[in-house]
Amino acid sequence: MTPSRELRVFYSTAYSPPSQPSLQRLELAARLLERRGLGRLQAPQAIGRAALHGLHSEAYLQAFFDGVEPLASSQGLPWSPALRDASLAMLGGQLEGAQHALHSGIAMNLARGFHHAVHARGSGFCALNGLALLAHAMPERRIAVLDCDEHGGNGTEEFAARLDNLYAVSVFGTRFGCYGGTRSWAFPVRVREQGFGSYLQALRQGIEIIAGSRPDLLVYQAGVDCHGDDPKNQAGLSTRELFQRDLFVFKAAGLLQLPVLFLVGGGYQRARRVAQLNLNTIVAAHTALGLSRRSAG
Ligand SMILES: [Zn+2]
Repeated sequence: MTPSRELRVFYSTAYSPPSQPSLQRLELAARLLERRGLGRLQAPQAIGRAALHGLHSEAYLQAFFDGVEPLASSQGLPWSPALRDASLAMLGGQLEGAQHALHSGIAMNLARGFHHAVHARGSGFCALNGLALLAHAMPERRIAVLDCDEHGGNGTEEFAARLDNLYAVSVFGTRFGCYGGTRSWAFPVRVREQGFGSYLQALRQGIEIIAGSRPDLLVYQAGVDCHGDDPKNQAGLSTRELFQRDLFVFKAAGLLQLPVLFLVGGGYQRARRVAQLNLNTIVAAHTALGLSRRSAG
């Protein structure tokens, strides 16, 4: 498998409706990466209801599609058609991004993974679990998730127990109900107290577990709310350490010849700062995998 020289980035303005300020940073990151020629944007089709059948419970899917409360807002944000459509667009990008990564070696979905959503409901600003979706949609493929958000991927952990082709590794500062379980491994690390070496050690162990599960695809959630200036962080990584984290993951994937789909996670600093940190992840992918830039415009 030869990685594509150019990074394909799945994104559409449907991901970041004006009514959702928390998603506006995705639009900022899209414009920044375009300006710097770091990838080719591709607008995906929104996922349809049929593709979600069985991933989440029927009662929850019906509530989320039709706006039936209280379940429709169980993720913690008030439900609206725009919020639903943004979720469906991002999950469409997740499917198309995974296909692209499987064929070419690497792709990005400029979206969130929604790792807190569980089978029966949303949680922690996550409505539909886009990480578990891939294992659900491709039962013949083994999907490994490496989740490096500030918060543990409790939702993906629940799904790993349900889907025997899903392997979930979470390295986090805040546990958020993620304890490890069936095909799920949890690594709590606080860099301020334990040092960055402990973080790298957790990553190394996580990659070993992933390599041992012989996946067809690595899904890397590069959260930036574990940055030391983020109001929610306990992990305490510096900008440079986040970059080293990303480099480590992309280099490991390259060495293992493992196709990677990567996406961004939380980030609660100023939108521009978050977008810049997301951009650093893209630069790390370029650096580690030798991707080519394209001329702007
Ligand atoms: Zn988070």
